Amino acid sequence: MIHLLKNKKILITAGPTREYIDPVRFISNESSGKMGYAIAEALNTLGADVYLISGPVTITSNFPKNKIISVQTAKEMFSKCKLLFDKVDIAIFCAAVADYTPKITSDIKIKKIEDETTLTLVKNTDIAFEFGEIKKPNQKSIGFALETNNVLENGKSKLAKKNFDLIVLNSPNKNEGFGYDTNKISILTKDLSLTEFALKSKQEVAIDIVRTIEEMYRIENQLV
Ligand code: C5P
Repeated sequence: MIHLLKNKKILITAGPTREYIDPVRFISNESSGKMGYAIAEALNTLGADVYLISGPVTITSNFPKNKIISVQTAKEMFSKCKLLFDKVDIAIFCAAVADYTPKITSDIKIKKIEDETTLTLVKNTDIAFEFGEIKKPNQKSIGFALETNNVLENGKSKLAKKNFDLIVLNSPNKNEGFGYDTNKISILTKDLSLTEFALKSKQEVAIDIVRTIEEMYRIENQLV
């Protein structure tokens, strides 16, 4: 069997980002990074050249540590991704990037003087969207959508807006997605065909995702 992903240069974002309010406080989310790391491991095993850009995570992984580019904030994640955008064949946006960041980050710890306080947030750059804007015909991108409602409709609109080739849909239900060791996904392709998968370990889900990417190349290259 031909391994179509062998030697492909693949960028993967994983984990949460931290958006700092002051040196010791931040806004973040529950992403564990498990899904992104499982995909990185599966692709690394197939001989792909993986660049894993990871937010702060505490998981243990077989993915080579020296190939992990660690970041904290969405801004840092974007700047590391930008350095790789034109070098990669595939970008997989698995990270749960914070949508907003504090407009001002205090250099010193904020004191609790006021009874009430307001935090002004500004939108972070959408990394996947930026890649979608400049992506070349030979480059592919894969996104994730974690949705609580209108899963398919929201997935379709994200696929189009961010110019993804595939989007992985999942939900924050118990045992699925965020933080859990298992996930239940559906994959929507550019031609809007939807494949639903059973609840599986994130390692098995990673293999389903990798196989779907391989299949996309196989169809494109008219291989059977
Ligand atoms: O719009 P939403 O955040 O649901 O989109 C999720 C997809 O977009 C994921 O693939 C995520 O990694 C990516 N994303 C990103 N940069 C952001 C927000 C989301 O790359 N600032």
